[in-house]
Amino acid sequence: MNPQIWFLTGSQHLYGPETLQQVADQSAEIQRTLAAGGLTAEIVGKPVLTDSGAIKQVMLDANADRDCIGVIAWMHTFSPAKMWIGGLDALRKPLLHLHTQHNRSLPWSTIDMDFMNLNQAAHGDREFGFIQARLGVPRKVVAGHVADPAVVKRIDAWARAATGLQHLRSLRLARFGDNMRDVAVTEGDKVEAELRFGVSVNTYGVNDLVAVVDQVSDAEIDKLIAEYSDIFEIAPELLGDRLDSFRYAARIEAGLRRFLTEGGFGAFTTNFEDLGGLRQLPGLAVQRLMADGYGFGGEGDWKTSVLVATVKAMGSGTGRGTSFMEDYTYHFGPGEPKILGAHMLEVCPSIASAKPRAEIHPLGIGGREDPVRLVFDAAPGPAVVMGMADMGDRFRLVANEIEVIPPDEPLPNLPVARAVWKPAPSLSTSAECWITAGGPHHTVLTQAVGAETLRDFAEMAQTELLLIDERTTPADFSDRVRWNQAYFRLARPL
Ligand code: MN
Repeated sequence: MNPQIWFLTGSQHLYGPETLQQVADQSAEIQRTLAAGGLTAEIVGKPVLTDSGAIKQVMLDANADRDCIGVIAWMHTFSPAKMWIGGLDALRKPLLHLHTQHNRSLPWSTIDMDFMNLNQAAHGDREFGFIQARLGVPRKVVAGHVADPAVVKRIDAWARAATGLQHLRSLRLARFGDNMRDVAVTEGDKVEAELRFGVSVNTYGVNDLVAVVDQVSDAEIDKLIAEYSDIFEIAPELLGDRLDSFRYAARIEAGLRRFLTEGGFGAFTTNFEDLGGLRQLPGLAVQRLMADGYGFGGEGDWKTSVLVATVKAMGSGTGRGTSFMEDYTYHFGPGEPKILGAHMLEVCPSIASAKPRAEIHPLGIGGREDPVRLVFDAAPGPAVVMGMADMGDRFRLVANEIEVIPPDEPLPNLPVARAVWKPAPSLSTSAECWITAGGPHHTVLTQAVGAETLRDFAEMAQTELLLIDERTTPADFSDRVRWNQAYFRLARPL
């Protein structure tokens, strides 16, 4: 897919063809400025829109176009907004209302009524804002001059969210086995998920996977072992007396990759309680597939797997990573309180600070042979964790801005990849708010996109998002949770 954003310019016939040509030229210049500013999606300009028929048609075309991830609308001059009702009502792609104007400065000494009539987005966009509010259209509003990098950054955050949503709309997820028995938060409504997000979630017997894994050839395994040796540090025993286990881990990767490729799946789950004929809990294989953009959730957690796949699509091309994660254990002090996150095995090497090391260790859980896994520390830097819960009448996203930091000391006896982070605004406030919201223990941790993109995504998907950041207090947050309960039952989008 080549993600494209359609740029729609609204005007009307009142001003005559000469003015409309000026509008078109200036719109093209604004589009070029946006592209030069570093937007990740391609901007595709459409002819200036001056009547309701053309507006509705372009929206229907946007809906049908596979590459179009969203629509930016800007009202140069004045575009009477009743013309936009049919089109906005038909639009099913994300919408960004760009409130800008061609000139940055007023030409104080020469300004006349012609200039005023051409450059009147200040009220033309307010007319457009009214009709969007009247219709209850989900959208993001960005105001400012397009030469300002902050404006482009906000538009790019939205474009990344739209890219994630587009990926999600056609995502297929394969679950190997059901959820871990008796666990509550990993459950959810798969029918609602397909309606709300477009993702299809279906379960396969784990032995369907085993059949594919068992067919993998020795040559395929040789190739993977050589590749691992090129890109990872390898514990010597894996190439010595544990070579058979190492080769079986490679066999799982090749088989799992084939199963997912042939089925057109972009995400999957496993469950250590249901491993069928698999000799190891998939560790290395899951880590490798996640690094290639696949979503993953442990213990049958398809909702988190969906989020991992979606957020990976949002962060594509940034060079920064995104992983399945779990809040594991705390450091309350001395020093600043922090969280140690990890999982049994399955943390994505896209967040690694240095070359991961392939190792083999016993795993008490699952009752299978010792699994191979990649071990590393996560790279320091700003990140966000986000999880999804099913509240019965809707999905709820909970997110927290965090700072990944190096561990206080080396962790020589911890045989899994891990991330250490300080949650904003503090461990106690973060944890109190997260728990008040009923946020899950599984999350997606991303260093590739920020909270603004996740907020834009929630708006597009019309899904509740509760964000914990530097400004959050437990009292205000509890109020927000309570008000949201009412809002999401009564109201329509903003
Ligand atoms: Mn878990």
